[in-house]
Amino acid sequence: MNHETVRAVDPAVADALDGELQRQRDTLAMIASENHVSPAVLEAQGSVLTNKYAEGYPGKRYYAGCEYADEIEQLAIERATELWGAEHVNVQPHSGTQANMGVYLAMLDPGDKILSLDLSHGGHLSHGHPANFTGQLYDVKQYEVDPETGYLDYEGLREMAEEFDPDIVVSGYSAYPREVEWERVQAAADAADAYHLADIAHITGLVAAGVHESPVGVADFVTGSTHKTIRAGRGGIIMTSEEHADDVDSAVFPGGQGGPLMHNIAGKAVGFKEALEPEFDEYAEQVVDNAKALGETLEDHGLELVSGGTDTHLVLVDLRPSHPDTTGGEAEDALEEVGLVLNANTVPGETRSPFNPSGIRAGTPGLTTRGMGEAEMERVGDVIARVVDAPDDGDVKAEASDEVDALTDEFPLYE
Ligand SMILES: *Cc1c(COP(=O)(O)O)cnc(C)c1O
Repeated sequence: MNHETVRAVDPAVADALDGELQRQRDTLAMIASENHVSPAVLEAQGSVLTNKYAEGYPGKRYYAGCEYADEIEQLAIERATELWGAEHVNVQPHSGTQANMGVYLAMLDPGDKILSLDLSHGGHLSHGHPANFTGQLYDVKQYEVDPETGYLDYEGLREMAEEFDPDIVVSGYSAYPREVEWERVQAAADAADAYHLADIAHITGLVAAGVHESPVGVADFVTGSTHKTIRAGRGGIIMTSEEHADDVDSAVFPGGQGGPLMHNIAGKAVGFKEALEPEFDEYAEQVVDNAKALGETLEDHGLELVSGGTDTHLVLVDLRPSHPDTTGGEAEDALEEVGLVLNANTVPGETRSPFNPSGIRAGTPGLTTRGMGEAEMERVGDVIARVVDAPDDGDVKAEASDEVDALTDEFPLYE
């Protein structure tokens, strides 16, 4: 894997691409929303389809020459249907945020009411944050997790729904380590006669493999990102019933987007095919086993996990009880210095700022793709704990850095 063709035209970009490849090889990617796609997905995404305009949908395009675009989009749709079992799938959203926008545009009018989880409790910008179009166009109220347990408070959500009377209730999160009980969110939506959007951006792969319960068939709309646990390259997806199919399709195009990114849709098709193989189910199970092993190691070192553990691909560490003087940002920086890349994250009941919050979030999808298992998670957990204990200690960091090098050498990437 080199960038020689780019180099002949543009050495500056080629250098940066080489640098990024090397960075991914030499570091542990533990940002919970990231993963490493296969070379096959990379090739499909970097293909001649980037040249093709295919506005419309398979069989009804606004441009000539779409026979191969049709074939590929149809394959992506069929495979997604097999993976998640929805009646209708739209694979055109450019990203997870665009997928959510498709649902809102389809079902809401400006000023309508959204009830969603607060960002600092694990929600997402596109669920109604004031800095996002959702916060500007719609009337948003936000629920929170139980501050004591870190679990969703389904009873509280239901009461809020009855009181606020939303048009749509949004579930599905960016930093929630526990299994979501979709039926209980549905009960809250039903209590307000509202739609239910389940945004499974992070857990698409876990749901496809059956290691997390599926909201398909429960929620009216299910959206996702295709580059996270499902490992199918950058993009978004919407799943719904036949009843809402036409509304969703016209909200995506022409409502919110122009021509689909057909090269990304080719990546989705290939990634979905890979995810239909039995090995993918084993991968997803290992992702969760790894997150549990990582969490247990961190707890053995005295770190506190929000909700006391995990059922998913991520752990969320609240640094305040064990390290009251260390911010998430300081931990993130010190860990990046040793080659372990994760992100500072807000925690429920956040007392610092979103820019330098009190927690760190660590995910296992990327490391599991490299082939690591529970034994390696213990080593990784040791690195995290030791560096967080002594973020300014050069000797500790040098040792941690050696351990990261050993792990990346033992589990090479993109050979
Ligand atoms: C990652 C994420 C998204 C969307 O992400 P994009 O970056 O727009 O693909 C949407 N919802 C949730 C809950 C997410 O975690």
